[in-house]
Parts: sequence; C-alpha cells; structure tokens
Amino acid sequence: MKQFADSANATFSDLTETATLCPYCGVGCALNYGSDSEGVIHYAKGRDGASNAGRLCVKGRYGFDYAAHPQRLTRPLIRRDDAYPRGPLSTFSRANSSGPRKPGGIVDYAEVLPHFREATWEEALERAASGLAKVRDTHGAHALAGFGSAKGSNEEAYLFQKFIRTVLGTNNVDHCTRLCHASSVYALIEGIGSGAVTNVVRDVENAEVAVIAGCNPTANHPVAASFMKQAAAKGTGLLAVNVRRPGMASYCEQYCQITPGSDVAFYNAVMHVIIAEDLHDQAFINQRTEGFEALAKAVKPYTPEAAEAMTGVPAAQITAFARRLGQAQSAMFFWGMGISQHVFGTDNARCLIALALLTGNIGRPGTGLHPLRGQNNVQGASDAGLVPMYYPGYQAVSDASVRERFEQLWNVSLPEQPGLTTAEITHAALEGEIRGLYCMGENPFLSDPDMNQVRKALSSLDCLVVQDLFITETAEFADVILPASAFMEKRGTFTNTDRRVQIGRPVRQPPGQARQDWHILRDLAQRLGHDWDYADESAVFDEFVQAAPLYANLTYDRLGEHGRWYPCPDANSEGERVLFGDQFPIGRGRFVPAELGQAPDLPDDDYPLVLNTGRQLEHWHTGVMTRRSRALDALAPEARVEVHPSDAKRLGITDGSWTTLRSRRGAVEVQAHITRDVALGTLFLPMHFREAAANLLTTPELDPFGKIPQFKICAVALAPLSTPLTPPQPDAVSHAAG
Ligand code: SF4
Repeated sequence: MKQFADSANATFSDLTETATLCPYCGVGCALNYGSDSEGVIHYAKGRDGASNAGRLCVKGRYGFDYAAHPQRLTRPLIRRDDAYPRGPLSTFSRANSSGPRKPGGIVDYAEVLPHFREATWEEALERAASGLAKVRDTHGAHALAGFGSAKGSNEEAYLFQKFIRTVLGTNNVDHCTRLCHASSVYALIEGIGSGAVTNVVRDVENAEVAVIAGCNPTANHPVAASFMKQAAAKGTGLLAVNVRRPGMASYCEQYCQITPGSDVAFYNAVMHVIIAEDLHDQAFINQRTEGFEALAKAVKPYTPEAAEAMTGVPAAQITAFARRLGQAQSAMFFWGMGISQHVFGTDNARCLIALALLTGNIGRPGTGLHPLRGQNNVQGASDAGLVPMYYPGYQAVSDASVRERFEQLWNVSLPEQPGLTTAEITHAALEGEIRGLYCMGENPFLSDPDMNQVRKALSSLDCLVVQDLFITETAEFADVILPASAFMEKRGTFTNTDRRVQIGRPVRQPPGQARQDWHILRDLAQRLGHDWDYADESAVFDEFVQAAPLYANLTYDRLGEHGRWYPCPDANSEGERVLFGDQFPIGRGRFVPAELGQAPDLPDDDYPLVLNTGRQLEHWHTGVMTRRSRALDALAPEARVEVHPSDAKRLGITDGSWTTLRSRRGAVEVQAHITRDVALGTLFLPMHFREAAANLLTTPELDPFGKIPQFKICAVALAPLSTPLTPPQPDAVSHAAG
C-alpha cells in the first residue's frame, strides 16, 4: 500500500484539498487534507472552523498516516479452528505483567495472524450473524452486548445502537463515554436537565474568571488550551485545581494542587466561603434554582481550615480562590477526567454544577459549564443513543411512552429493561451472563480497568465479533474480524465538545476489501432479517434527527462546510452558543450536595504511593492510531512514569532508569521521568502504551451513578528494577510488517 513518505515527490499542483476534520479529540478542529489521486495524504492544514480558527495541534497536523499503515486489515478474518479455546494469541496479551518492550509496541502480526485465515465477506458476515444469533437463541437477547465507538460518525453510532436494540434485542450497548465523562453527564442531567456543555470553549475570552478543574488542556485539548491562554493574556483569570500540575498552570492566576480524591472537600470549602461572605448570587438562586438550603447546610462544616487538612491546600489559598470566583461578574467552568474518573466522579461534578448555580454563572456570555469531551465524537455518540439507558436524544428507555414512539419509528418491539454499561458488561461476562459481544472500533482489552479481569471476560465469551482497522489487542480474542474504514475514508457528521455538528469527508478509499462501517451494520441487519435500506449517510442522519429532536433543523445541506451548533432553533440559525439564558430543561436547576467520599484502593505499607493515569499530548487512548503514525510515534515512542524528585531520591531511582511499578492487580516495568509536576507520594502513567499497560494496575470499582471506573487513584509500589535492562531496539513490526 502506498504511504505518506512514498510520494515525497508529488508537487502541490498535483494535490487536491478536501475540507474535513481532525480525527482525534473533542475540540473538533476543521482542517484540509491535501491528497493525491491515489488517496495519499501529504499534509493537513487547519481551516477556519468555529472551534479552531485555523489552528491544529501536533496530532491533527501530523497524525493522519495511520490510515495507510501496512498493518491495515484488507480482508475479513476468521479464527482458525485450532485457535480455540478462545484466549489471547500474543505473548503480550497472555502475560499478567508487562515489561520494557520495543518502542512502537503494537500487536505483533507475525505472532497473531497465523491464528486467523482470510475469508470472503459472505462467509465472515454469515459467521458473525450466526454467532450472535446463536447466543440470542440459546441464552436470550440479554446475553448479548455491543461496544460502539466515539470515533465513528453520528450515523454509525445511531445505526450501531439501533442494531443492538432492534436486531439483537437488548439495551446492552455502550461506548467509551463510560470511561471518560459518564459521571459528568449524570450530574448535568440531574442538575440542569442536559448532558451537553452550556457554552463553547472560545467564549472563555468573555469570562472574567475560568476554573480549569481536573484537566490538562495543553495535552488533551491543545487548541482549546490555546484559546484559554489567549484569554488569560487579555485578562481572564484562570484558576486551576488539579492533583498533577497542568501545563496551563503557568498561565493561571492561581493553581491549587489538591491531594488525590479531595475535590469535593475543596469545592465544598469554596462554596462555604462564598456563602459565608455573601458572594453568592441570591437573585439567580431565587429565580432559577432549588435546594439551596440543603447545599448551604452541607457545605457548612467544610471551613477552609477543615478543608486544608483534607486537600493539602492552605486555607488562605482556598479563601482567595473563593473570593476571586465569587466576586467575578462572569465565570466558566471547564473540567476533565480528574473530576470524572473516580468512584465519586458524579459527586465531584455535582460540586462544579453547584458552584456555577451558586454564583449565577450559567446562561450568559462568558459563563457556563463545559466538561471537555475526549473523543472527536463522544458527544455525538451519546446524543445518538450509544448508551444503555437512553434512546437517541437522551430519551429514557425505561419510559413506556418513549419506548412506544421508538417502536413505531423502528417498527419493532423493544426491550423494556435498561442495559448494562461498559464495565458492567465485562463483569457480567465474568459471571457467564454475557456470552456474545459485537465490538466496533473499541479496544477494551487495553482501555478498560483491571486488564487481567478483562482478559478472562473476553476469553469466556461464546462469540466475539470485532470490526476495526487493525488487529487490536481485543481482536486477538475474536471469532471474526471485519475490516472497516478509517476516519479519512468516510463521510459522516461528528459533534464536538462545543455541540458543533460538522461533516467529515473522505479523501481516500478503504484499502483492499475493507468496507464502510455503516455498510457492514446494514448488511448484518439484513442478514438477520431486518429490512434496512438507506440511500446514503445523509438519509441515516435524517432518521437520527427524526428520532432525536435536539438535532432538529440540521441536515447535510445546512451543515455545509462549517457545520452548526445544536440546538438549532430554525433552518437559518447558526445554532445556540450559550444555552439556558431563561430556564433549564428541567425548569429550575437543582443543587445536589455532596460529601467527601473515600477511594476504595488506598495506599498502605505495601503499596504506599498513589497512581494517576491519563493521556499525553502526542498519543491517543490505546495508541491504535497514534502509535502507527510515524511522526507521533517518533516524538513519543515509549511510556514513562512521572515521579516526584523526593520520592525518586528516597527510592534510589534516577531519571530514565527502569523501575517496577506494582499494584494489587499487576505490575509493569517502565522508565522513570523525574518531575515536580506530580506531588510527593503520587505518580502519573500515560494510558497509551501496551508495554507499560496502565490498566494492568487500575482498579475495577465504579461510580454508582455514572458507572465510570476509578482510573485516577490506585495504590502502587515503585522500586528500581533489580536487573538493569538493555535499552530496547526499534521494533521491526512497527512500520514494516504487512
Ligand atoms: S486539538 Fe484536538 S481536534 Fe484539534 S488538532 Fe489537536 S487533537 Fe485534533
């Protein structure tokens, strides 16, 4: 297959520019790909999108060549008979620990591919359909589940959840929102009646103050971060709160470094000061909210002095933070996974929502709530109903009248019982209750907590269908692997963190026999007796809009090159930037008080440190795309665990030396990076590197409301690796194997 570097001699005049989007984060930067007649992309150039104004970060600029990687799947694959009983196929996936491996660690095709044979589409679709149908007919529809993808388009998300609900007959459908902002969405729907952001990132320039809570935008939403820095230069006061020092800290008026898991204590103390010093917005509270008295009572014990002991932040700093926020005329609240990925993630988000209601900072320019969404289409996938408790448009599956409407729209009987979430599906597989799984564009083996349990769960299935670009770690367990289309090979709509709905356009064809994801879904549905027939992606979008009134007035024609925000009040509107100026969808906003909770996996003498996991600038989630991007892999080829200098000295660890990092569930071997970004007693490990797989270490406990795992706290021990290792050599598989 022809690749990026093979066409270095092409001239600009040979290239065609296509207006599309970046495939990575929720900022949803608009860009042009310059490609030649063979679909080889030569460059990415930012264009004037509403959310990026021509800017791109390193991933958008250089991270497009994964689509042409020689490991792309070009034919359907079927597991050979002698590769059963089902289990992991590679040395890496079999191991209960991982150690220093070759840079560019991706699935070793030489080890895995011989366990599969190429098949025709006819045979592969039949194998997938009959495997899923057999589980349904033998064990019932609720023994089946589907993981969709926040990397796919709205149309793909809509069809995937429709397939699981109408063809397989279960609400057991979910996606990676469960691993990032499910707790935020729960708290938002509970508090104001809507799970999306109330204002767009770029309105930060109109905010007097912006709270940057539990997020690291310079690494995870870099173009959004650039607008925050620009706002700071023009006078917006940035107030950061985090366990690990974010890159924004040097642009902030104040940075409060809290101890892990103490967010509720910090924000309750801030609210305590605001109420005690009469800085709250009583008029807003009277007109727009309910439950203020209960909140005031709940935060009363959280004096700054009491919170100092819980958070490690001096009382004077907490008071200064509260005064700056309480006295500001306008404030925005941005947050990330440092808030949401906890067993008390919903409580953390409740506090930020309460702070915004308390200070009257929703519904005006320069105010609002903005959980920074991770994947490029995690907002849209949730809007499209790729979650177990809601049909498209957040209409509850448990509501009989809603269910009746969808039965009429889809012409089927629908299951009454809400489905299981991502981690619950894994747990149910371990119990033998889930027996079949359809996994489109997700890689739960690496992305879900407690990898040793996920391995057992995947091994226990009777049927696993994986639809993806590559043989992922999860695909090693599959019966059938269906080769799918990359972002730059498909047309579809994508909804960014600002609620901006934009069209992504193809610049190249899927390689070999790889197919459009929605075509695969349609063909499987037809094979299982459902008469699905859509003329094209826009016809799917029109049905989605019919199902989800929150996308009313949007069509492909109206979205055009630049997209629009939803909600969009009429056909001529650009859509709403700022929501809820007059009232919330539930009428009055609700204060929901929260008490400081305790994490389940805390340090002791054997595991004395706290591990925090997350993302880094150059990579994306399980690395399936970015580790196959030449530039991104070269910039950041390996994992490093961040260690505070004092901890490193005490443990005899030097910068770059190899260490063993061990939790109660597993161990990894990884090089140390000594930095004061992490607090004493805490570590940070990025989640992207299979050779230092963070989820071998993490704990499977869930938030009771959002059902999100606790990726941000687990107790670990760190020690120098007793036998120093030879520095690894470049991986022959990384960019050469076919
Ligand atoms: S900020 Fe996000 S959407 Fe924009 S270029 Fe970077 S990764 Fe892509």
